[in-house]
Amino acid sequence: MKHQDILSLTLEQLTQTILTYDQPKYRAKQIYGWLHKNMVTSFEEMANIPKLLRGILCNNFYIPAPVALKKLKSSDESIKHLLNFKNNTIIETVLLKSSYGYTICVSTQAGCKMGCTFCASQEKGFKRNLTAGEILAQVYHIQRELDKKISNIVIMGIGEPLDNYPASVAFIRILSSPEGLNLSQRSITISTCGLVDKIYDLAKEELQVTLAISINAGDNAKRKEIMPIAKKYTIEQLIEAAEYYFKKTKRRVSYEYVLIKNVNDAKEQALSLSKKLARTSSHVNLIPLNYVVGGEYSRSEDEKIKEFAKILQKSNISTTIRISKGQDIDAACGQLRNISFPLT
Ligand code: SAH
Repeated sequence: MKHQDILSLTLEQLTQTILTYDQPKYRAKQIYGWLHKNMVTSFEEMANIPKLLRGILCNNFYIPAPVALKKLKSSDESIKHLLNFKNNTIIETVLLKSSYGYTICVSTQAGCKMGCTFCASQEKGFKRNLTAGEILAQVYHIQRELDKKISNIVIMGIGEPLDNYPASVAFIRILSSPEGLNLSQRSITISTCGLVDKIYDLAKEELQVTLAISINAGDNAKRKEIMPIAKKYTIEQLIEAAEYYFKKTKRRVSYEYVLIKNVNDAKEQALSLSKKLARTSSHVNLIPLNYVVGGEYSRSEDEKIKEFAKILQKSNISTTIRISKGQDIDAACGQLRNISFPLT
């Protein structure tokens, strides 16, 4: 039998599996605890699990644990981890330190299919989806080295999480399970370029995670120029889906807007966006563009960014400007890339 990734199983799924081996149910909870609380990387470490059962697990499953290739530390103390998973799948995970604690930015795919013109993650195309276990393993890898429990997770690394929907949702459920790390769902943010159908699906999952939408333009024509997904869904459809998410979850939606000089930073874009977001329960995060190697874009001037923020605030839209971290090590928003392919 082919080895299966055991970290991807919810406690219910693991329990079902354990029962098929004619083992008592409580073993599932013990194993789950070893995997998701103790974050072990081998079955041998599961001290209170009988050798026979450990052998069965070993024959049928593997625990995804990345090989750490490189660790880059930024002057602002952010740390970028270059991690290698099965089949030479190299991704990046970033640890961000702030006054309220540690945040980990996880990747959900190796590469990305979305093709946003200003983002480094899509430059070399798409290799494969990560499993829920591989997304969890990024958190566990970093958490094992830390003295304090991480406080927040942002699903904002390489890839489009809603394009790897089942794994992203399983990741959230397992990470927040009381028998695992037990991280509050409210401290998890999932960021999407706007897969409208999947936003409706997510709203129905009854999760308490924050939804962040990368809007990046005030009108559809401009959005189409920089985000291919805008050809499939309009901003109006996107906002409608976000409102549905708010209605179902009571969680205020965040909109992210990367400001690119002379591309999407004009007053008209801000006015158009504020009209569309008026009367919604949302928050706008303005992100000064981070430099992408080989990119043709540059960051809007600070004055322009402030002006943009003011227009939105005038319409009573809560707006902040994001302080970028990890820029000197290419670990800031949009700078993560999959360096492992094309495999030649
Ligand atoms: N695919 C998801 C998550 C990854 S991108 C999404 O699109 O939301 C995470 C955030 O980084 C998005 O808001 C995106 O718009 C932003 N981003 C992408 N490239 C950037 C760049 N060069 N500088 C600043 N932010 C960028």
